[in-house]
Amino acid sequence: MTAYDDQNIFAKILRGEIPNVTVYEDDDTLCFMDIMPRTDGHCLVIPKTPCRNVLDASDAQLASVMSTVKKVANAAKTAFDADGITVQQFNETAGGQEVFHLHFHIHPRHDGVSMRPPGKMGDMEAIKAHAEKMRAAL
Ligand code: AMP
Repeated sequence: MTAYDDQNIFAKILRGEIPNVTVYEDDDTLCFMDIMPRTDGHCLVIPKTPCRNVLDASDAQLASVMSTVKKVANAAKTAFDADGITVQQFNETAGGQEVFHLHFHIHPRHDGVSMRPPGKMGDMEAIKAHAEKMRAAL
């Protein structure tokens, strides 16, 4: 398996080299807003320690990340009065992964509403407002 590259964008976020809109953090995990949101409230949960994805993550990394996924998913459901939550996770390029630091996407979903296409920068003021709603629900 390819080695972890500490120049990936999420490693830079963890080192404070580039900004993020934080929703939640604890000793082991960070949840921050996706800058190209496919749903209102689209956020990402990552471990604070390095691994590329599920394939090389330790059981401890997966356990802490999934605990935060559950916490934030429930907060997102409350904050957006969502009917459901989609959790997405991609492994390696063929699996759809673009940033090679383990992350889980959390999407609040509403009945009959599709996710937006990927790759479009979001409005930062809206993203910050969505993060605030989730922080309030946590
Ligand atoms: P993937 O690796 O396919 O799960 O996609 C990586 C995700 O990271 C995409 O949804 C991007 O919009 C998101 N992303 C990329 N750069 C940043 C960043 N600086 N801050 C927040 N999200 C980002």
